[in-house]
Amino acid sequence: MEKIVSLSRRRGFIFPSSEIYGGLSSCWDYGPLGVELKRNIKQAWWRTVVQERDDMVGLDASILMHPQVWEASGHLKGFSDPLVECKSCHLRWRSDDFKGDICPSCGGELTEPRMFNLMFKTFMGPIEDAASVVYLRPETAQGIFVNFGNVLNTTRKRLPFGIAQIGKAFRNEITTGNFIFRTREFEQMEIEFFVKPGTDKQWFDYWVEERLNWYVNLGIKRENLRLRQHGEDELAHYARECSDIDYLFPMGWAELEGIANRGDFDLVQHASYTGKSLTYFNEETKQQIVPYIIEPSAGVDRSLLAFLCDAYDEEPDQEEIRVLLHLHPDLAPIKVAVLPLSRRESLVTAAKELYADLRQCWMVNYDDAQSIGRRYRRQDEIGTPFCVTVDFQSLEDNQATIRERDTMNQIRIPISALKTTLAAKLSGEDLFILPPGGQIWKGGGEG
Ligand code: ATP
Repeated sequence: MEKIVSLSRRRGFIFPSSEIYGGLSSCWDYGPLGVELKRNIKQAWWRTVVQERDDMVGLDASILMHPQVWEASGHLKGFSDPLVECKSCHLRWRSDDFKGDICPSCGGELTEPRMFNLMFKTFMGPIEDAASVVYLRPETAQGIFVNFGNVLNTTRKRLPFGIAQIGKAFRNEITTGNFIFRTREFEQMEIEFFVKPGTDKQWFDYWVEERLNWYVNLGIKRENLRLRQHGEDELAHYARECSDIDYLFPMGWAELEGIANRGDFDLVQHASYTGKSLTYFNEETKQQIVPYIIEPSAGVDRSLLAFLCDAYDEEPDQEEIRVLLHLHPDLAPIKVAVLPLSRRESLVTAAKELYADLRQCWMVNYDDAQSIGRRYRRQDEIGTPFCVTVDFQSLEDNQATIRERDTMNQIRIPISALKTTLAAKLSGEDLFILPPGGQIWKGGGEG
């Protein structure tokens, strides 16, 4: 984990929040590369679960919601963790985070556990009284449930269908840590998939499989993922069944995403609190039914950490070590780097022209500082899949080399074919499938 934290800091993926003021516990800022990686993760998720499906639509609900939502959802009463305090050092702990009954820090005696509600409270409007209390949402899910009727009426979707949402959530966690794994402000990617009762088990299994495959298709090693079914005693108050997709983080196995069968709990609760009907007319039986809900709930930040951990690699490189991120091209913050072989004006001009052109399609870096070897390493370290090198011969024959990150193989192709070739390679085509006039330049190794 230290290596990931240090790389993230050094290369501008993730910085401590308000760092010049000494930081703010458990809050992090995504830097120039981090924001791209995060956007790419969200885009990949949206593409898979919304764009490519005809049984899903998107939503972007507000963070602040009517306070009664949290009463109906059970969060006001039940969204709590057991808090204990050390009588000697006064550190506070979540008592189900460790075994034993002494302070994990100093061995002191602990207080009896008391339930601590994890919702952040604030006030709406200029008067700070009980009537104006609102909460920062602790999950995006409720915004979806309360819009079930709106979406149903405006889209005319039939069961089964889902609503997907990406957005910030806030939890006043007692213990945070492990970098961006557990923070008090984070982003979720949630699906609420509405199905006919009786088909819920089948859809639950379907979504567990779908979501597992999503991580694998984006490069996470299968052996670093596992499914963990919740025992009866562990199930949340709304859940009939729940499975976590765990990832083998540097600190051990931990939840990456939770998939729950929420039954009809949420729609029934909101209908009873509001008096509004949240049902669906079943054409076959000519009856109003309350759909069951399957919820795959993922964390953007946790996924990002898993993608970083899984991609991180070190290879011997003569006397040094080559650090690289094997990020999937869809996720890589920078897709292509344009590197003139030297700072000679004619080369720089040609390379900058290329840079301006490729930027129309992708996030592209330009780098002409230091040796070409060092520049390749800099790109490897941030996971850039391809480097395009412009050399003196390029000025004569209008060709450039493409160098691939993981194998360091190189091909040389006409500059006129560069965009289409890069597009194909970024979509997964083998490097050695060449456009007309192209040739294998260097197979492996780097001088
Ligand atoms: P945990 O047991 O780790 O606290 P949870 O079971 O409370 O997580 P859920 O309520 O199922 O989490 O939330 C769904 C997803 O949201 C989690 O799988 C995780 O990816 C993300 N998530 C939840 N809490 C946090 C947090 N404090 N920081 C970062 N991500 C979080």
